Order: sequence, then C-alpha cells, then structure tokens
Amino acid sequence: MRKTLAVLAVAFVAAAIPDAHPLTISAWPEKVEGQPPAPAAVIVLKPARVFDGETMHEGWAVRVKGERIDAVGSLDGVTAPGARVIDLPGTTLTPGLVEGHSHVLLHAYNEASWTDQVSREGLALRVARATNHLRATLLAGFTTIRDLGTEGAQYADVELKQAVNQGLIPGPRILASTKAIVATGSYQPKFVAEWNVPQGAEEADGIDSLTRVVRDQIGKGADWIKMYADYRWGPMPGSRPTFSVEELKLAVETAKSAGVPVAVHANTAEGMRRATLAGVETIEHGGEGTLEIFKLMAEHHVALCPTITAGAGPWPPANPSSPAALRKRESFKAALDAGVTIINGSDVGTFPHGDNARELEAMVSYGMQPTAALKSATSVAGRVLHMENQIGRVKQGLFADLAAFDGDPTREIGALRRVKFVMKAGTVYRQ
Ligand SMILES: [Zn+2]
Repeated sequence: MRKTLAVLAVAFVAAAIPDAHPLTISAWPEKVEGQPPAPAAVIVLKPARVFDGETMHEGWAVRVKGERIDAVGSLDGVTAPGARVIDLPGTTLTPGLVEGHSHVLLHAYNEASWTDQVSREGLALRVARATNHLRATLLAGFTTIRDLGTEGAQYADVELKQAVNQGLIPGPRILASTKAIVATGSYQPKFVAEWNVPQGAEEADGIDSLTRVVRDQIGKGADWIKMYADYRWGPMPGSRPTFSVEELKLAVETAKSAGVPVAVHANTAEGMRRATLAGVETIEHGGEGTLEIFKLMAEHHVALCPTITAGAGPWPPANPSSPAALRKRESFKAALDAGVTIINGSDVGTFPHGDNARELEAMVSYGMQPTAALKSATSVAGRVLHMENQIGRVKQGLFADLAAFDGDPTREIGALRRVKFVMKAGTVYRQ
C-alpha cells in the first residue's frame, strides 16, 4: 500500500510540473521478491465525452487500473470505491494519438538543413535533441510514433526506445526502423562527385545485400523496415524509381518471414506501383499518386501515409495555390475517392516536434471528414501498425494510452491543439 501511495505521489508531482517526468514510475519493480505485488492504482477519468476510436459517446467515463483500461461506459458502471477521480470537464477523451511517420532524430529544416544536420551534427547532440522531441510529442497527446529512419544517426532510435521503456526519459511508444534502406547512389548527402561520404540511410542492392541488410536491421532492433522506392536521384531535379519490383519483393519476403512489416517511401506513380505489387504494407507520401494507383493500393490492402504537411514551411502554407500544394491536394483527393486506407503521418522532424496535429488539420482541410481523420490517428493506425489489441481504441484491456482535448475534435479538428490531459500506460504526463 505504501508503494502505491508513493507511485501516486510521484505521478501527481509529475503532472504538476510540465517538464518533470515520473522517473521512477516505469522503473518501479512490478514485483518485489518474496512479497505479493502492490495493488495497481485505480483512476476514473470523467471527460464530457469519449471518442473510443470509432464513435463518440456523450457522458462516458473510463476506469484505468495499472497500465490498462479497466472499464468504459456510463459513469455509474465505471465508478469504483477508493479510485482517484480526475475531472476533465468540457473535454473529449480519445485514444492516445498515433504519429505514423516521424523522424525524432531530425529537427526543423528551417533551423538547419537536412544535409547540415546529417553531416555537421554529432550523434550525441542529435540524441540530446531527440529526448526533447520525444517529450514534446508525448505532451501533444501522441502516445505512439512510428519513426521511419534515423537519417544518419545509426541505431539511436532503438536506444531511445529503450530509454523510454526503462523510464529514463518521457516519450511515446516507439516503433523503430533504424537506418532505412536505399539503392546505391540514390540518396544523400551529395557533395562533389569525387567525395564518397557516409549516407543518411543504408545502401543495399540485389539479392545478397538486400537480404543481409534487412536481416541486419531487424537484428539491430527494427520494428519496421523502411525502404525508398524512388528518390531525387542524381543532380537533375525530379524523382525516379530505384529498386525493381523483384528487389522490393525480396525485401518484403525477408522481413515478413521475421514478422516485420515494410514501409516504403514513394512519390512517383511508378515507385508506388512497384511497392504495391511487391506487397509492402504502407506507402509514404504518395505525392504523384493517381486514382488508378490508389485503387491498386486499396485492392492490395496497402495503406497510405500522406505526410501532407512535410517540410519546413508553416501550415497552412503561405501560398496554398502553389503548383506543389495543388498537386498534393489533388492526389490526396484521389486517395480519398479510391477508398485507400489512410494512416495519419506527417514527416514531423522536417517541422517542429509537438506540432504533429497540423497533419490532421491538413487532411480535414483537404476534404477528409474530421471523424475519419481522428480514426486515421487512432483505431485505423492501431490496425495498420498491427497493434489493434494494444492501442488505438478506448476499450477494456488495451493500454491506458489516452488524451483529452478541450472541445470536440470531430466537430472542430483544431481542438487537438488544446491538449488538457495525456496518459500513457496509466501514468499521467499532462493534466
Ligand atoms: Zn520521412
């Protein structure tokens, strides 16, 4: 009992000081040798309404026990004697949001270009920044991220994930992908042609090296394999396809046999087509996707991670009718028309961490219904990430990863900016 009180006390302190974090919570021993485990803390959350990942329920409450959701429904059925009650008046409680495409080891490009970050900022400096990025992400209500490439920072994503899991630093759940994989010569940084410098991703080609590199990255801790099916290859502008369908297929099969899914960067229609036929699970960006390509993706159950707001610029863009903005708007509309599954993902890192909600605002301003946008960051994201039994819904048995926002984001998506409460695995990080 004393232990439970201590845990609660630490949680209260952490909630009161925005920058503090419950250092000892996750590190607290689950079970002390020779003693029965301490009873899990019980918390009842009372928002105005609950968006459970699928639909809205007015007047619902949620009971949390330990790190899981214990009960959901009308207040009468959820109340428990002795529970700590947290009132969240005027708010909508949602599943913790999912960021499907982040780079926690990058910071905004208007602070330093990608090339300068990769070639002039050391590993420890980048990791130090990343710890701030992870905290900002969590406090913005994003409790899970899929981090798609360290961009030259080696395997630091896996070690940051360990630091979060061990309770050393606050942060969301991290799905790591380590270095990402590119075809030889297709990536960056590029200086004069005579200088062969280390690249921001790992090069591999053909049967031998692709098999080896996929397996090696899994061995180093990749939860997802990230590949580039096209890129701005060579000194001339414009993207072109890189890997063949056969190469992508081989990588997908190698990863799949280890239970690891593949995410592919593709902006060209041809890169998207090859990735889809190869059986990848998500396509990132999809900027030049056509109705035909998106229909092919839907048919093959490939999800789109649109990253509408990727880049250093502000959102909404200063010039919404620039050719690039119009093209992206048109391709996103084609994706909606084709009924392709959409997982929320922004490419955050190109812009400041913690500003992740701008992607949801962008999807809505480009024609997606607010409820659908919210699902793409909760229940749909949970399914796409193969974590539907852990995250993405407010449902008994799932992790108590929850956020509350002032207002109703299914009516006004901008409510996601007004974060009132964040909990991950039953621990309060913001209140
Ligand atoms: Zn990216």
